[in-house]
Amino acid sequence: MERTSAIFKRLSQDKSKREIAYFTMEAALENDIPSFSGGLGVLAGDTLRSAADLGIPMVGVTLLQQYGYFHQTLDDSGNQTETEVKWNPDLKLTQLPNYTEIKIENRIVRVRVWEYEVVGKYGYVVPVYFLDVNTPENSEQDRELNKQLYGGGQYIRLCQEVILGIGGIRMLRDLGFRDIDRYHLNEGHASLLALELIRESGYSSYDKVKQNCVFTTHTPVPAGHDVFEFDLVKQVLSPVYIDYLRDILEGENPVNLTTISLKLSRFVNGVSAKHGEVSRNMFKNPAIESITNGVHSATWTSQSFRRLFNQYIPGWDIDPSHFVQAMFIPDEEIWKAHMTAKGKLLSLVEDEAGIRMDLNRLTIGFARRAAAYKRADLIFSDLERLIEIAGDKVQFVFAGKAHPKDGEGKQVIRNIFAAIEQLKGKIEVVYIQNYDMHSGGVLTSGVDVWLNNPQRPREASGTSGMKSAHNGVLNFSVLDGWWIEACIEGVTGWAIGPEPNEPNLSDYDERLDIDDLYEKLEKVIIPLYYEDRSKWIRMMKNTIALNAAYFNTHRMVKEYALKAYHVSPLFQ
Ligand SMILES: *Cc1c(COP(=O)(O)O)cnc(C)c1O
Repeated sequence: MERTSAIFKRLSQDKSKREIAYFTMEAALENDIPSFSGGLGVLAGDTLRSAADLGIPMVGVTLLQQYGYFHQTLDDSGNQTETEVKWNPDLKLTQLPNYTEIKIENRIVRVRVWEYEVVGKYGYVVPVYFLDVNTPENSEQDRELNKQLYGGGQYIRLCQEVILGIGGIRMLRDLGFRDIDRYHLNEGHASLLALELIRESGYSSYDKVKQNCVFTTHTPVPAGHDVFEFDLVKQVLSPVYIDYLRDILEGENPVNLTTISLKLSRFVNGVSAKHGEVSRNMFKNPAIESITNGVHSATWTSQSFRRLFNQYIPGWDIDPSHFVQAMFIPDEEIWKAHMTAKGKLLSLVEDEAGIRMDLNRLTIGFARRAAAYKRADLIFSDLERLIEIAGDKVQFVFAGKAHPKDGEGKQVIRNIFAAIEQLKGKIEVVYIQNYDMHSGGVLTSGVDVWLNNPQRPREASGTSGMKSAHNGVLNFSVLDGWWIEACIEGVTGWAIGPEPNEPNLSDYDERLDIDDLYEKLEKVIIPLYYEDRSKWIRMMKNTIALNAAYFNTHRMVKEYALKAYHVSPLFQ
């Protein structure tokens, strides 16, 4: 460790020497900076944290969300109410004197900037810039453009992307970054930055811009790809960009930001091997690669496991490949650390839902965005059968927000509440409101089994299961996204349903998943939990040694450095 910190002292602390700009619409830097909605933002935060730990010369650029995503409350029937999250950026971020201007329609809109420093384990700083148009120079209407993440209609959405992409590049120039020659478009939201790069360097420079851009696509689900009518784009953007767009899209209407990103990036990747394959099919582009997601190990490991790892696996948090040594941790220590984390979860459940759950009962968790394709209610497909299998043996904890405009997602939450009612006195099920980074951490570390059953192949990667793997929590999941690469049946966890053969978004027999879910729960998971604790604990160690060692953002960022940024992580 001494040697490593000495090396970091030699790395430049001059922030203007950063070379890679990571553009993202959301970034979960702290739970109290509510400028994120879910998985994409958490991944961005974990990426920036790992870059800082590893000394990767990166800056982050994102949009300040004045009112966050939203705070969720649920009534007794599971109806969701959304309220604005008021927060004061002054308490968390530093406002800088720098500003820039962009044009929206015919209006000049002033963009100001706030800085947050992500400080790595050895003190290396990755600065993150939050763009903001809520300044007195702008009209009331324009000041609200960055009020809410993914809020408002198409118009606001496009304006937010102009602020992020075009405003972001101009702000980097104003902040004095001279060495940046790699731009990472984290999802299509950031694609307008490429248009600004073209404008900066002159008309005929598509190829040069392309050499500098890297694009990561994050979902095969259509709702995740921004599409705008050409007329709207023409209304909002300055004519100079419209000319480029006509050229780039060859008249395509509506305007798909993913298409722009694909055409203007040298390197494009999906976020798991399967998602790479699905994306190659979807975009008919054989060059799309894959870099499987990860999570930031130190952020998502519970306190009791951090303590354990510090003792038995020194260096795990700067090089998580050391997790292979988890096999040598004594069984009783693993179990003790797990019971501490589980106790914390049960306290959270008691505080939030007023229900005292049983520390010794098999506890299954499910928490993620309440989108219909994630099928949070799948386990309640046959309540009679579930009671037969799991009555008195299993308890469940759920959490997740539905996007305000996602009627189907909201229905899924109501379905779960209906099941909770019907299972009263037979199986304990609780729904924790307002899923966020904090409850996410407590849930993924505190349950015994982490359940995931999306419709294949819609889960591009999934990251919450990687958090659970860091805490010895066993995954029970459909073979989709990261789990295809991570699941060794009965060794690291369990699969639900058939092998993943779908190359595209296609419907398939839901019954197969449901049957397998019930079968395995009854015949394998419940008996193992209650009757063979030593094998259970061996599986906990397996998932740490085999899954956490790989599915972390330290490995992921190094892979981007090698394959996409062409900065060797070995430059130290
Ligand atoms: C990790 C995390 C997610 C992403 O989880 P998935 O398994 O990818 O759906 C979403 N929201 C929060 C708050 C998280 O912590």
